Amino acid sequence: MSDTFAEARRRMLEEIGRHAEETKAWTGCERLSERVAAAMARVPRHVFVAEADIGIAYIDRPLPIGRGQTISQPFIVAAMTELLAVEPHHRVLEIGSGCGYQSAVLAELADRVFAIERIGELARAAAERLRRLGYANVEVREGDGYLGWPEQAPFDRILVAAAPPNIPPALIEQLRPGGRMVLPIGRIEEVQTLVLGIKHPDGRFESRRLLPVTFVPLVSDKDG
Ligand code: SAH
Repeated sequence: MSDTFAEARRRMLEEIGRHAEETKAWTGCERLSERVAAAMARVPRHVFVAEADIGIAYIDRPLPIGRGQTISQPFIVAAMTELLAVEPHHRVLEIGSGCGYQSAVLAELADRVFAIERIGELARAAAERLRRLGYANVEVREGDGYLGWPEQAPFDRILVAAAPPNIPPALIEQLRPGGRMVLPIGRIEEVQTLVLGIKHPDGRFESRRLLPVTFVPLVSDKDG
């Protein structure tokens, strides 16, 4: 892979480091682990943005990816990945994969990634992009993330990149005891909160509110 963008990725990681330091009172996490930093340094973010945005692919901002959706800000991708604490043997469910950038970061860290995206056109483009980049351990499918992916459950980790008003019950069900999930919660007109959900080995589910965030809504197809 060409390294024209390696310097831009290094600067992006410095910026993420500053944000992590600023938000540590909320997240309890002052810096990125080596594993997450290395994954963020490897994934070519410029391949996931629109051609016109390639020159600004590594600034710490969300960018449009078409169909009214966005690629998340690098700091948010890094923070959610860090909080998820993905281990190499994990099976991870990702909801709202959009362009597939977060999927690629997870694919660097996990055994397998199952990604669901509601908009078929985005799901197909993400699957093709991830295949071209050689991420053979990611499967992307078009679908409604509210329902999870029961055929592949249980999952060790679940990451949701769009905000539901409450944690979808199917996702709690499909999380393995001992597993964790990270997701934004809140209605569109409210400030949303990034939540860390932990399913204890005895099945008890606990959630911790961490950080104010802004995400697109998790659209329920039942709402039309
Ligand atoms: N993970 C992306 C961010 C994508 S934005 C990244 O790496 O930058 C959130 C995505 O969630 C959008 O693409 C949107 O279409 C999708 N989405 C919204 N509601 C959904 C639902 N019910 N099921 C699956 N995906 C959904």
